[in-house]
Amino acid sequence: MTTPIPELRRSRTESIAVAEAPYVLSLDEGTTSARAALYNERGERIAMHSVAFDCFYPHPGWVEQDAVAIWNAQLSAARTVLEQAGIPADAVAACGITNQRETTVVWDRTTGIPVSPAIVWQCRRTADFCGELKASSNASMIEDRTGLIIDAYFSGSKIHWILENVPGVRARAQYGDILFGNIDTWLIWNLTGGRVHVTDFTNASRTMLMNLETGEWDDDLLRIFDIPRAMLPSIVPSSGRVGFIGANVLGAEIPISGIAGDQQAALAGQACFRPGLSKNTYGTGCFALTHAGTKRPKSTNKLLATRAASLDLTGQFAVEGSVFIAGAAVQWLRDSLGIITTAAESEALAASIPDTGGVHMVPAFVGLGAPHWDMNARGLIYGLTRASGRAQIVRAALESIAFQSRELIDAMEADSGEPITELRVDGGAAVNNFLMQFQADILGKPVVRPMDVETTALGAAYLAGIAEGVWSGADEVESFWRVERRFEPVMSHAERASRLDAWKNAVARSKG
Ligand code: ADP
Repeated sequence: MTTPIPELRRSRTESIAVAEAPYVLSLDEGTTSARAALYNERGERIAMHSVAFDCFYPHPGWVEQDAVAIWNAQLSAARTVLEQAGIPADAVAACGITNQRETTVVWDRTTGIPVSPAIVWQCRRTADFCGELKASSNASMIEDRTGLIIDAYFSGSKIHWILENVPGVRARAQYGDILFGNIDTWLIWNLTGGRVHVTDFTNASRTMLMNLETGEWDDDLLRIFDIPRAMLPSIVPSSGRVGFIGANVLGAEIPISGIAGDQQAALAGQACFRPGLSKNTYGTGCFALTHAGTKRPKSTNKLLATRAASLDLTGQFAVEGSVFIAGAAVQWLRDSLGIITTAAESEALAASIPDTGGVHMVPAFVGLGAPHWDMNARGLIYGLTRASGRAQIVRAALESIAFQSRELIDAMEADSGEPITELRVDGGAAVNNFLMQFQADILGKPVVRPMDVETTALGAAYLAGIAEGVWSGADEVESFWRVERRFEPVMSHAERASRLDAWKNAVARSKG
């Protein structure tokens, strides 16, 4: 049932249909929209287009999407971006794909029709099943082999749910008539007219079915999750040709040559190709990743070990930590408390006072992620006095994003034993200069914001463009990475220490 993988590389001259105009197309499929971006030979984004799609919440804790709607949105974004830029498809030398991770699609190989709605990464329907696994004698083996913490996020339990709950699917899956894919796999299947069924190491490392070290589907894990191997895609490197977008799709055949899950793509888009380089994405939550080189990391601080997108055939790794509520705390101030009218307003308000006057906010609305992993923690605003007002609370919310990120970076340094020298940032809340300066202060490290903050799309473009010889390798794309602003720490050591103590005290009160 495996799909033959075409040659992984070809030379620059072969790859470029129009010698003067090698463009690279990036398909960036996120949780709320599918985007397409086009880059020129200098790595500059010349066009971007986004098409939104719906999310469904049929029961409390359940999150679903329509995989066909995702495909249509992605197709429409790709066609529009080429049209808007006035670039013919045959001038595109490579296409890279990046995607919301873990979201699970299962479809019929013959008809190409999904057998159920896609189960989105946020969906908690398999929490009980995962609870049982966590309590079982297999728990430490599963976590050790995959580098993950057993949780409903990852695809394995979602596939299991579909096989158990959609009538007739399990039997057909045994024979390879039913296929599984994360969104990368689903898009590639459709882009190639059903000819290619692959995923890359970064996406596969989020299924809880891959042995992180060897990069292969693991028979013991497949047995535990009761998933037939025949339905799984082949695992391929993140940079290298896997097939062609059919000529009927965008107007010319385009090689698909880069694949990575969104956070790993962002790591590449931040040009973090070497061990110790770190990025933090400030969106709804925060996702921090540090490149860990070619040796599989083992976290002793409750971080995840995962695959990084490699530019060659070597296995590359990263450690990852996430903060559940980051920019969402600012959203909460706006939408639930109504004390600001726009997220951007938080910056001036926070900067209008020298400090919070001892107010701390711990936005543990859904528990605390790494390194605490306390699902019973709940949010609090602590240290209020008669002098506390809107500005103090807003500032405390922004500071909480930086404090939580500092805890991730501490855990990463403790795991690797190596200091992280600077933090590269992106995401919607990274535009907030107050937050970035406070982040640098509370880390005691420079925070660096690049010119192009669409790092996810950019990373997928790099992976594809390098594979097709548009760019020569990491050194060349690193030279494209330009700093927009660098925030140097100015806070004294003593003040930082006392602020961190106060934060820890507030976190302790939010737990349990
Ligand atoms: P996602 O990809 O998770 O949807 P984005 O990267 O688009 O998130 O970032 C949006 C988040 O950033 C929102 O939670 C919003 O509250 C926050 N945000 C946007 N602009 C600012 C700002 N200027 N200051 C602080 N937070 C902001």
